Formats: sequence, structure tokens, C-alpha cells
Amino acid sequence: MRPTVWIFEDQLSHSLNALEEHPDAHVLLIESKKTWSMFPYHKARLGFLISAMRHFVAELTEAGHDVHHYPLKSRGYRDSIAALRHHIKQTKSTEFIVVRPSEWHTQAWLDTLSDLLGITIRYLPNRLFLVDRERFAKWAKSKKKLIMEFHYRQMRKDYDLLMDGDKPCGGEWNFDKQNRKPAKGADLTFRKPRSFKPDEITQVALADVEKHFGDHPGSLEHFAWPVSTKDAKAAWRDFLKHRLPLFGDYEDAMLDEERILYHAVTSPLINAGMLDPLAMCEDVEKAYRKGDVPINAAEGFIRQIVGWREFVYGIYWTYMPEYRTRNQRDVDASLPPFFWDGGTDMHCLHRTITDALEHAYGHHIQRLMVLSNFATLAGLSPQDVNDWFLAMFIDSHDWVMAPNVIGMGMNSDDDTIATKPYVSSANYIDKMSDYCGHCRYSPKKRTDDDACPFNFMYWTFLEDHREKLGKNPRMNMVLKNIDKFGDEQMQQMRDQRKQFVKLTMKGKDYEMWNRFPGRTVAEGQTNGPFDPKYDTF
Ligand code: SF4
Repeated sequence: MRPTVWIFEDQLSHSLNALEEHPDAHVLLIESKKTWSMFPYHKARLGFLISAMRHFVAELTEAGHDVHHYPLKSRGYRDSIAALRHHIKQTKSTEFIVVRPSEWHTQAWLDTLSDLLGITIRYLPNRLFLVDRERFAKWAKSKKKLIMEFHYRQMRKDYDLLMDGDKPCGGEWNFDKQNRKPAKGADLTFRKPRSFKPDEITQVALADVEKHFGDHPGSLEHFAWPVSTKDAKAAWRDFLKHRLPLFGDYEDAMLDEERILYHAVTSPLINAGMLDPLAMCEDVEKAYRKGDVPINAAEGFIRQIVGWREFVYGIYWTYMPEYRTRNQRDVDASLPPFFWDGGTDMHCLHRTITDALEHAYGHHIQRLMVLSNFATLAGLSPQDVNDWFLAMFIDSHDWVMAPNVIGMGMNSDDDTIATKPYVSSANYIDKMSDYCGHCRYSPKKRTDDDACPFNFMYWTFLEDHREKLGKNPRMNMVLKNIDKFGDEQMQQMRDQRKQFVKLTMKGKDYEMWNRFPGRTVAEGQTNGPFDPKYDTF
């Protein structure tokens, strides 16, 4: 009996080891309405994954594979189990070859299937990531403190990336200090990323999203994502040629009229398996060695991939499932309703949330220094914030969001990823963006009606957590400002914060969450769509 290679929505790679090792197997892909209905996923995220899966099915069929595709709710197969039963009955195939899933809850579910369906599942390593989970866990457990930089250097050596012999190219491992130029006021030209007009497959996929997931947040109006292997490669070449040279300089910049600046916008493609992380890094190195891009751009990009991406994947698999529940400051405010419609006077938040609603995308500094910064200062529940990110962004998967939001963004992971919170006053946002020029608040004021909330929230946050933050030598200079402001000004800021919380944070965002069975906040559930009590698949 021929085995079945079962491919998940984030494994859309033609060089998948399961396909290469079992070219004659049945190939199974399932679109589960049930899974995608459990959670308020942005319509564009669903449209992207569904269309990419369908293009992949067409490409595999064209290449001669025996593909068994269960499209959304076709023939009544609303969930994975029904589709699996049908597939087993039709093909008599009971041996399943599976590339290890990227997400913990998928693995936990797969562990139940052998008994339930009478099948055997054989796992292959997940080569869509460069890091080996077991090796990472061993490394992590041998260290007192996990420092991304050290892991990153080892990965550079292991994969011989940007190395001159045993020395890093350019004489330094990390050019982060040269990744922080503000773009406002600079004489720059921007070339928008290539957009891809929806073809027939995508049009049907988007219509299916409206039909089956019409009550989900977000818009499909601007959908122009690459969804085939060919288009993914074209999008990648477009970045290499037109945006990579200035990517390094302006990596942390934000502009009101330029959503993308010089970012790659390839995270959804790499996270769905459509682009190969090592090949991308090698392309970037080639461009550097040809003299087409400076070292701060090449190193900055490669650090995002073999440094950060692989590090957070390792963290996720080392500490799940409890990682997702971490909340070291024990905060639990729910998201203000404006997270679902962008309706706030705080322009930086309005712009970032509106971009997310319209495009299912925001670049990393919008996510870190606007959204997560606000969430941390406002004491929002890290689990609620994490789930919002998971719902709203096109590149989201549990392995990437949990360490980035609960860990890096909100510093709620018991200091596993960072030793201090990434928080700032309006000063940082004003320096790195032109948002404040469009805002009714003043980034310069700490008190007064038009004082920027980032200011009074920042200083009162530092005051609240002074004892712990004071143990970090890098915070001492900043904390001294609290004494300089004096009691009266600090009291004004505390009052202002109270008033802001009362007015702006009023209302609960339960209405949206509660429409989806996998995330019922009113029940006090904290484990997102993946609580074992929900039959997610
Ligand atoms: Fe954001 Fe404050 Fe600047 Fe307004 S003034 S855009 S709220 S940082």
C-alpha cells in the first residue's frame, strides 16, 4: 500500500523532504473550515493561505504527484478528521509521512491520531527551519541566560554565512547600530513592493473566504500577495534588487505615507514554506559580495533569518506549552476596542492598526515599538495581545508570535528572551517616524490635556517597576529622571494615566473574541485557540 505524504498549510515547499523521499506517495492537503473558524483570523491571512495551498496543489499535480486535496468544506468535509477518514477509506493508505509540524498544538493533536484512525505516522525533520529543535533545547538548558547574539554567531559559522574564513565579513558580527536611521526628512525614493493581481484561483479563494469567514476581521480589498511559487520568487527578487540596499539603514524607520519602506515583506512566504531561508541568506550574501548592497543591509537581513527567526523557533519548542501562559508582571487588562477598528486619536496606533486591518501587515518596528510598547505600558494581558497578533498578521503562526509578543514585545516570559522591557516614551516614536506630526497629542508633553499617552504611561510604568528595573545597569540613568521630575509631576502623570485608562480603555473587546469558539475570553480562557478542551482540527 502506498503511503501518504500529508502536507500542512505552512509546508508549501517543492523541496520538502517528504516529497523528495517519497515521490510516489499519495499527497494529502486539507483545508479545514473548523480550524480556521475557531479564531478571528484576518480575512487576508486566510485568503493567502488558502490560495497558496491551492496554487501548490496545482503545481504538484502538474509535476505529476498524486494529489488528494480537500478544499474548504467540499463534499461536507468541514474538518480534518472527516477528510482523513475519507482519504483512508478511498486509498487504503494507513502509513502517513509527516514533516514535523511547526506548532506545538498540531503535534499534540497528531499524537492522538494513530489510536483514533488506526494509522501510523512517520515523522521527518522540519527542514524549513535551519535550527534543530533538540540541539537548541540542549544548548538552551546548558546556558544561564539565552542570548540571541551567541546563537546567531554559531549559526553564521555553521552555515558559513557572511564569513571570511573564521571571521565575520566586515569585521563585526552585528551592525545593528547602523540599522537605525530615521527616514523622515531624508531625501529618499521608495519603490513599492511588486503587487500580484489575483488570478482565477485567488479570486475563488477570496470569494470562499467571504462566504465561509465573512464575520472575520480585516479587508480583502487590497489583496495583492504572491501566492504561487513563481510569484514568491519574483517578490523575493524584487526585494533583492530594489529595497535590500537601503533595508539596513532604515530598518527601524516608520513613515505615515510609506507602509513598507525598504522591508522585504517576505515573512508570510518564508513562514508558509514558499521561500527557503538558507537560499535567501545565500542570495543576500551574493549581493553583498558583488558589491550591490552594503554590509549593514546584508548582515541586518541575515540576522533576521538565521539569527532571530531560528532563535524564536528554538525558544518556542524548548518552552512550550507553558511558554504561552507566561505573564511575569501579572497583568490582565483586555485590549481596548480600538484594536479592532483603529479608532483612536493616537496616530501611531491608528496608523499601525489601520494598516493591519487593511493589509494584514505591519513591519517589525510598528509591531515592537508602537503596538507592543503600548500593550506593555498599558498592562494589557500578554495572552490577549499575543492572540490579537496571531489573528491579525498574515505571517502569523504560533511559533513566531508567542516568543515575539509574549517574550520580546511584552517581556512577559520571565526574562527568557530579553532582560528588560522594550518600552519607550513618545521620544523614540517621534525620532523614528513622522507619525507625531499627524497627531493631536504632543510628543514633548508629559502632562496636560494634549500630553502624549506614551509619555505619562512610560514614566509611571518605570516608577511602578523601578525596583526590578533598577537591577539592570542599563536602566539606571533613565530611572534617575523620575527623581528629577519630582513628586508633583509624577502625581500629575499618575492622575493623567488613570484618566486615560478610564476614558480610552473603556469597554471590553470580548465581543470579537466571543464570536469564535476557540477564544472565549469571558470564560477566562488564556490558551488561545489551542486549549485542549476545544476540538480545533
Ligand atoms: Fe503616537 Fe504620541 Fe506621537 Fe501621537 S504624539 S503619534 S500618540 S507617539
